[in-house]
Amino acid sequence: MANNIPSLDRLIDSFASLPGVGRKSASRFAYHVLDMNEEDVIAFSEALAEAKRNIHQCPICHNLTDSDKCSICEDERRDRSVICVVESARDVNSIERTHEYKGLYHVLHGLISPMDGIGPEQLYIKDLLHRVADEDIKEVIMATNPTVEGESTAVYIGKLIKPFGVKVTRLATGVPVGGNLEYADDITLYKALEGRSEL
Ligand SMILES: [Zn+2]
Repeated sequence: MANNIPSLDRLIDSFASLPGVGRKSASRFAYHVLDMNEEDVIAFSEALAEAKRNIHQCPICHNLTDSDKCSICEDERRDRSVICVVESARDVNSIERTHEYKGLYHVLHGLISPMDGIGPEQLYIKDLLHRVADEDIKEVIMATNPTVEGESTAVYIGKLIKPFGVKVTRLATGVPVGGNLEYADDITLYKALEGRSEL
């Protein structure tokens, strides 16, 4: 390390551990923190710790929440007969932004990926099947990303759900192949939802 100030190096290392932050940006953030007043720095660090402490998974859909249940499962106005299955809680945000979808969600927290050693049992697939079995579900929308892992996860789950007599649909291919829901613009995502077809 060039600084010879262990506390500063540690701060830079912490920023550099974030996704998409290189050493240069990490160093810029660290020096910026040193220029901030102490109250703001404490508020910043408390926001990190508090978010980590309070935010957990919704016991029903595994979306993130700081209450007992997430705000979507709690919302009586949502259509309880449709479940949209996504890879991550970030995808819930992306779809909510379109204001097109009024149903519920189920967050898998990953995709089946034998290359990375992730099998179906590591995802929340069993919980999804319980919901389909126990509740009056009419449609499950597979909204995983259009990557190899996203497609094979959608097909795998679709096969498990169909025997329950529930319609399984897949987003239209408006989302670019190999792309990511998170980066799809709202209109693309809106069209992908609207043009979904049976799997
Ligand atoms: Zn929930």
